[in-house]
Amino acid sequence: MADNTYVLAIDQGTTSTRAMIFDRSGSVVAVDQVEHEQIFPRAGWVEHDALEIWENTRRVIGGALAKANFNSRNISAVGITNQRETAVVWDRSTGQPVYNAIVWQDTRTQKIVDRLGGDAGPDRYKETVGLPLATYFAGPKVTWILENVDGVKDRAEAGELLFGTMDTWVLWNLTGGAENDGVHVTDVTNASRTMLMNLETLEWDEQIAADMGIPLSMLPEIRSSSEVYGECKPGILRGTPVAGILGDQQAATFGQACLAKGEAKNTYGTGNFMLLNTGTEAVPSENGLLTTVCYKIGDQPTVYALEGSIAVTGSLVQWVRDNLGLISGAPEIEELARKVDDNGGAYFVPAFSGLFAPHWRPDARGALVGLTRYVNKNHIARAVLESTAYQTREVLDAMNADSGVPLAELRVDGGMVVNETLMQFQADILGVDVVRPKVAETTALGAAYAAGLAVDYWQNEDDLRANWGEDKRWTPQMSEDQREKYYRSWKKAVTKTLDWVD
Ligand code: ADP
Repeated sequence: MADNTYVLAIDQGTTSTRAMIFDRSGSVVAVDQVEHEQIFPRAGWVEHDALEIWENTRRVIGGALAKANFNSRNISAVGITNQRETAVVWDRSTGQPVYNAIVWQDTRTQKIVDRLGGDAGPDRYKETVGLPLATYFAGPKVTWILENVDGVKDRAEAGELLFGTMDTWVLWNLTGGAENDGVHVTDVTNASRTMLMNLETLEWDEQIAADMGIPLSMLPEIRSSSEVYGECKPGILRGTPVAGILGDQQAATFGQACLAKGEAKNTYGTGNFMLLNTGTEAVPSENGLLTTVCYKIGDQPTVYALEGSIAVTGSLVQWVRDNLGLISGAPEIEELARKVDDNGGAYFVPAFSGLFAPHWRPDARGALVGLTRYVNKNHIARAVLESTAYQTREVLDAMNADSGVPLAELRVDGGMVVNETLMQFQADILGVDVVRPKVAETTALGAAYAAGLAVDYWQNEDDLRANWGEDKRWTPQMSEDQREKYYRSWKKAVTKTLDWVD
């Protein structure tokens, strides 16, 4: 293969869409990024305009190619990674969404979720799908659209509508859309977040789809994470194979080369997501974690993961910026926090969408506790950062309990890991080393790897491991006594947030 070839990854995230071009060493050659609007029609509702996102996708592909001075001949394959669980329903003959995409953080489906659980409760489908019933997952979002948007149920039953998570929406449009017979496919990792896929058979569960009132004709075909799904049709990448799809957190796990059983990574973005590779076995959780598909490379056996999802981490920093106006940009949170040695007794539990792992408490709401006249904005900035570290500790404890093997070190990535104060505190509160890799863009890299493996741009997983390199390591410096004292206060703070919503 000529050496002027690269792999392009599309990262359709919660706040923005990026296109990134990688070379064989896994280094970024060019990147373009556009943010999209966050639509908050009511408290607890979060939507995206799917057409805006598709338009942004086209723009960033063009932007990244232009920056590198490349054309489609330089690109061996395209990979897609995406915000998971966000659901969109559209008309297959026009390509028009019937409603905005409902975002993973949206809590409007609480009543639907309660109804589905019935007497069996939130774990009704857990054995089959690995997940508790929660507003987080995609299936009930589709139910909401079918039940609440005029005429949509009839059109769905007539076979006129398609459902997709954002990978499917981007792939369908890239490969031709309404005019050119777009490919309607998702991968096993995204399908594993719908509550509709059987974790063992990797097929849609007809009974659960029926319970949710979702016609099977709307659902995309489930395929592996690394194979040629189709070719880009019109546009600048015409003829280039789309050959990899991974949900963003699974992509980051892949990009961090956590390819062996027992390896784990934690991503610090809008929310936090820790994934532990459990090998070819789907391990059920006894401690509030999710069982999910980690990846499936072509015909190779399925690899599973345990996952601890935290809804609000980096988005708390955004909230402090946008809703409080305490800072004008995210890096300022560290400048404030560095001015004090500790949190002054203040603890901030950002249960804005209830609490996800390991609690799964939709009735929780945020709280700032431990306040005295002494506490100032620097302490609050520290409490904001510390909340990410404490929530991560809760998840790590659950992971150690489920797997029975304590994690030796934690690989980290995502927008918040530039924050050195947070990373040091994280190592202190976990009591294990925290390690940041050289290529911080692990999510896009993971999608590039999945696509590149399918077209033999990379030969095998050893190529990916060889690309991984350490950038920085934080080692715990806090005494065990101090660590546990702080953590006990955090746990007490969490109890203050529960039972808030009836
Ligand atoms: P996503 O992929 O979920 O959109 P990113 O991985 O791009 O998120 O991370 C963005 C998040 O990181 C934002 O929520 C932002 O508030 C947070 N962030 C960015 N820089 C910093 C910083 N220096 N300190 C703390 N948080 C930060």
